[in-house]
Amino acid sequence: MIIALCCDCKWHECEATESRPTFTKVQVLRSKPVGNNAHLVRCRVAARDSHGVGSFYLLKATSLNVDDHYPMGKTMCKRYYPLQSPSTDTHVDFIVKNHQWPGGDMSRFLGNLQNGQAIEISGPTNRDDVEELLENETMVGLICGGSGAIVGLQTLRYLEEQIRNNEVQVHLIISDKSQEDIIYDKEFRKFSHEYPNNVFIHRTLTRDAPKGWNQQVGRISKEMIGEHVPEECGVVFVSGPGDFVEHMHSLIDKPLFIL
Ligand SMILES: Cc1cc2nc3c(=O)[nH]c(=O)nc-3n(C[C@H](O)[C@H](O)[C@H](O)COP(=O)(O)OP(=O)(O)OC[C@H]3O[C@@H](n4cnc5c(N)ncnc54)[C@H](O)[C@@H]3O)c2cc1C
Repeated sequence: MIIALCCDCKWHECEATESRPTFTKVQVLRSKPVGNNAHLVRCRVAARDSHGVGSFYLLKATSLNVDDHYPMGKTMCKRYYPLQSPSTDTHVDFIVKNHQWPGGDMSRFLGNLQNGQAIEISGPTNRDDVEELLENETMVGLICGGSGAIVGLQTLRYLEEQIRNNEVQVHLIISDKSQEDIIYDKEFRKFSHEYPNNVFIHRTLTRDAPKGWNQQVGRISKEMIGEHVPEECGVVFVSGPGDFVEHMHSLIDKPLFIL
């Protein structure tokens, strides 16, 4: 079965699907670049609301300080996947990908946040249906593009105990434009080194591969999926921007369920 988690709908489409979300003001504890093309925003939350695979928060912003085209400001509200901070139950981390200059309003707003500033968030919205699908699954596939890699990490963290107990295998393909776009590489590598029989990560770069790059180059193909996501996977998640998900639609002839 294939499940697609589409992560690039426009903010007004998001709004239309949320039934009057309630926003809470929270403090930004840390705002800093992670790698060359992403930014970490760590927020204080009252107590950690548990979140799992595919969970997301809505973040709200006013573009006043980032976009001269809207002198009165423009209110934006977009979805972001949370990552739990393993060391504490009162933080939630968001990884915001930077886009090509000048970048999107929301990404610039989040990238310009200062420690101590307040931001409005709503959530988490959890995906119980996804967790149900993962229950008792012994082989899981994930195909991630760009910010979709965050769902890859959510999944590995969520399944870590089952992975350690040899109860599940996770097969990931992660596609990025260049090496600079790769996020949390250290943690992904840690998973595959610690669990070489249960975590398989295959990376591909679609634009610039550095000298010495020993993994794949080029867009994800049918052959790549056939080679790195075994047929036996009971569930395969596809996560990434809209055009990425569409491309996967064209490659995979099994039914796609957009959640
Ligand atoms: C469920 C869900 C979870 C999401 N989680 C995350 C997350 O954890 N981190 C994150 O960075 N984004 C995430 N997104 C995308 C996020 O909501 C915004 O759409 C994104 O930050 C761009 O908003 P923007 O206003 O900055 O740019 P926009 O003005 O919407 O777009 C600016 C430019 O960037 C391109 N672009 C927009 N989004 C992407 C993308 N994801 N990858 C590549 N190019 C893109 C656009 O085509 C455009 O050219 C998620 C979306 C959904 C639906």
